[in-house]
Amino acid sequence: MRNPFDALLGLFSLDIGIDLGTANTLVYVRGRGIVINEPSWVAVDRKNPRIVLAIGAEAKEMVGKTPSHIVAIRPLRDGVISEFDITQAMLKYFIKRAHQEIFIPVPRPRVVIGIPSGVTEVEKRAVREAALEAGAREAHLIEEPMAAAIGAGLPVTEAQGSMIVDIGGGTTEVGVFALGGIVVSRSMRIAGDELDDDIVQYARQKYNLAISERMAERVKINIGSAYPLPEEQVMSMRGRNLISGLPEQVEISSIEIREALSRSVNIITDMVRDTLDETPPELVADLMETGICLAGGGGQLKGLAERISEEMHIRAWVAQDALTCVARGAGKVLENFEAMRQTLANDDRQNPGGSAS
Ligand code: ADP
Ligand code: MG
Repeated sequence: MRNPFDALLGLFSLDIGIDLGTANTLVYVRGRGIVINEPSWVAVDRKNPRIVLAIGAEAKEMVGKTPSHIVAIRPLRDGVISEFDITQAMLKYFIKRAHQEIFIPVPRPRVVIGIPSGVTEVEKRAVREAALEAGAREAHLIEEPMAAAIGAGLPVTEAQGSMIVDIGGGTTEVGVFALGGIVVSRSMRIAGDELDDDIVQYARQKYNLAISERMAERVKINIGSAYPLPEEQVMSMRGRNLISGLPEQVEISSIEIREALSRSVNIITDMVRDTLDETPPELVADLMETGICLAGGGGQLKGLAERISEEMHIRAWVAQDALTCVARGAGKVLENFEAMRQTLANDDRQNPGGSAS
């Protein structure tokens, strides 16, 4: 039975769901929807990394254009928290800002944070502590694939099995769900960033062209694919010729980019296959009906759904609003907190108050 005071507080507090992604951080406020959507970047002083100069879009803008004493960091780049203090600073900043967006003074929020499933217990504690320090009254964690599945509208709490493939910047996470739990899951550090890197390497090897990560990402989003396109495309790619040292522009086709991406795409599809191999047959039978849902920015790679459908003999599709699934999923958990509590990460159940210990 819930404490009646808590119940009353719940009515007034605007609870917050956070997708702490390797590439983007999104904040969902109960009753409002997504109020913050910014890159997970932090700019710090090179000589004194404790000095945070900018967070989010402003920090990302600084990349490659800043005086050399400023470095921009992605503290969650590999799906692990490589920079503890910086992650904490970023999280606190976003929670405080979400609280300010609401304008009216409200009680301290309950916070549900989606974290990559690769993070360790120590890192989980750090995330939770940061949320509490930022003013949360309760901080709960949810595994990203679970949050993504909920956000995508999959029936995770039902007996029928369902599956998500969430491809972010730093990590790809695959999960099979039934009865509110994760039955099988896999996490791997090959995702959107790796695809960008494949394009950088390809440009270098084939054209002696040095291109930026940003240019590579643009090429990937515009003409990258995992399956032949109905109409193949071309795009110009700008960089610096490694031999002459001069700026150069090269026309590149979607066929070439598909070749550049093929190794990483194969690793991702193998991961889906391995997960299916591990899934109990009864649930595989369910998946033949419910299908495989792709989420995250990388899930939108052209032709990936077709490719997975063809290889796995199971219908695959891209979730609506694939980039916001985790944040909306965390939001849905907040909206039906008691009923969906079972979907929170394990250690929450052992520590129901959600307080840091
Ligand atoms: P994370 O959850 O790790 O923060 P996101 O789900 O926000 O990551 O996805 C970011 C990744 O998705 C980036 O690598 C970005 O380049 C990639 N991305 C975004 N849109 C597309 C698209 N249309 N096609 C392919 N990749 C995309
Ligand atoms: Mg994500």
